[in-house]
Amino acid sequence: MAQNTLGQSDDSFQLYDLRVEVICPPNERILCGARPGDFFTLQGEMLYLPPEQGFSIYSLGVVMPLLAAKQRVTHPNDWMSTDAEIACPDPNCKSRLKIIRTRLRTFSHSEVTVVPLRNQDAETIESLRQFGLVN
Ligand SMILES: [Zn+2]
Repeated sequence: MAQNTLGQSDDSFQLYDLRVEVICPPNERILCGARPGDFFTLQGEMLYLPPEQGFSIYSLGVVMPLLAAKQRVTHPNDWMSTDAEIACPDPNCKSRLKIIRTRLRTFSHSEVTVVPLRNQDAETIESLRQFGLVN
């Protein structure tokens, strides 16, 4: 394996696996077809639904922009670290989607992209150092 600009041969990085679960308040009319406990999981870029369970495309649409950020390790003070519930996009529906980080999964940079690590600029490397992600 080639070394990156930091002189490291380890090109691994970690992302959280996510579970997105439907929360339905009791005695409320649910308009998006969700049932309490419906869910999907995300592992890397792969989304998995349980057999025979659907998921509203409108609900998927509102949660989708947040998933890539929730997969990543974020600063403890970042709202992305603390906030996990997303309102149903139908203003008349009281269901919510809860994004749960379930575990960290390790990936190899060279297995997910052809872009070499040496393309990282000095600012990115300095940011990684500040967060203790590299030495
Ligand atoms: Zn809904």
